[in-house]
Amino acid sequence: MSKNNPNQFDVAIIGAGAAGMMCAAVAGQRGRRVVLIDHASKLAEKIRISGGGRCNFTNVGAGPQHYLSQNPHFCRSALSRYTPQDFIGLVKRHRIGFHEKHKGQLFCDDSAEDIIAMLKAECDAGNVSWRMPCTVQEVGKSAEQFRIATSAGEIQASSLVIATGGLSIPKIGATDFAYRIARQFDLKLVETRPGLVPLTFDGKAWQSLTELAGIALEVEVETGVKKERGHFLEDLLFTHRGLSGPAILQISSFWKPGTPLTLNLLPQLDVADTLIEGKGALKKNLGNLLAQWLPNRLAEGWLKINGFDAGARIADMPDKSLKKLGDSLNRWVILPSGSEGYRKAEVTLGGVDTRELSQQTMMASKVPGLHFIGEAMDVTGWLGGYNFQWAWASGVAAGSAV
Ligand SMILES: Cc1cc2nc3c(=O)[nH]c(=O)nc-3n(C[C@H](O)[C@H](O)[C@H](O)COP(=O)(O)OP(=O)(O)OC[C@H]3O[C@@H](n4cnc5c(N)ncnc54)[C@H](O)[C@@H]3O)c2cc1C
Repeated sequence: MSKNNPNQFDVAIIGAGAAGMMCAAVAGQRGRRVVLIDHASKLAEKIRISGGGRCNFTNVGAGPQHYLSQNPHFCRSALSRYTPQDFIGLVKRHRIGFHEKHKGQLFCDDSAEDIIAMLKAECDAGNVSWRMPCTVQEVGKSAEQFRIATSAGEIQASSLVIATGGLSIPKIGATDFAYRIARQFDLKLVETRPGLVPLTFDGKAWQSLTELAGIALEVEVETGVKKERGHFLEDLLFTHRGLSGPAILQISSFWKPGTPLTLNLLPQLDVADTLIEGKGALKKNLGNLLAQWLPNRLAEGWLKINGFDAGARIADMPDKSLKKLGDSLNRWVILPSGSEGYRKAEVTLGGVDTRELSQQTMMASKVPGLHFIGEAMDVTGWLGGYNFQWAWASGVAAGSAV
């Protein structure tokens, strides 16, 4: 096949999202002939809706400890070769204003569109060709190259990078494409499940809690044991369907169906000790005292739901009751019935098993020339800019190698 053939490329990348565009820009700027293929009609919708429209594009403290994977050391190499500071440098070169919001999370001052425009400009600087919107019908491989049958004709390339992301938010074009390609080439998959997702609850116990909808407060939340334990100090939001807010999104990635969560609604205070030891001096009734520590509506609702009389004088209450109240606040154990699923999940846990891939190049060791990057693989970040940092770092790793 002649190099003048307009459908012949060095590198074909399927999926023009965060990882795909980064990979294309890096490979293109190295002088490789690159084509980016995406089935969507609008570019990088997930970046556009991310971070509430302002894209939390990295986290200054991002490191391997912020990622979940069956192969936890895999991400180390790519993350150390392309760091948050490298991406910040790129953002600065494009004069995009940004600010730090919370725990190292960096957001655009104006809009996530600035990040999309930046990545597009970087692809243009690498003369990247586009096929979009374009449906991929089939992928085949001969000894020398990949043949990709698409709605825009057949494309041939010596390297193929799969950057089609995970299953989250099918409404904006998420598909299982990466997993299908992995299966086609006999690569192992780690079972997928929704992550960074609100959790749902049912049953009578939950019914009484729906009156707390709308209340937010900082809590400690934990689940799991040993290596699988997750533990966060973040904001919790009561909703009509269950619990949400950063605390729940974070812990949802660690949560396994059938296991409980333990929440501490007053992490700065040992409630039982404070009530029992201070009992003599505490002139207040329960309702007034709790309202000093918790949002008013939560204090009232919590006492009612747990069968306490808000008007009871603390001095008159038996230690056993005070201990029960303290435990309900400091060690609230609840069993989620499920999650809101991929419809609402920010990420997909699991994916292409990284034990099949090179940590330097993201290439499948069994299939020379085939690479997987971004969320498609079994590397999932916490909430807070870590998922984009993985998309950039894995994109650069593959883009520098293809
Ligand atoms: C609501 C929301 C908010 C988020 N906010 C943040 C945040 O602020 N910070 C953060 O770090 N992470 C955030 N994330 C996670 C982050 O968006 C993803 O982890 C990241 O986009 C993954 O990059 P990717 O390139 O692997 O996949 P994507 O960015 O999802 O790109 C995949 C691309 O592949 C295309 N594609 C899919 N299937 C096919 C197919 N069959 N054929 C052709 N093309 C296909 C899609 O159209 C898409 O363009 C958020 C996610 C959601 C859903």
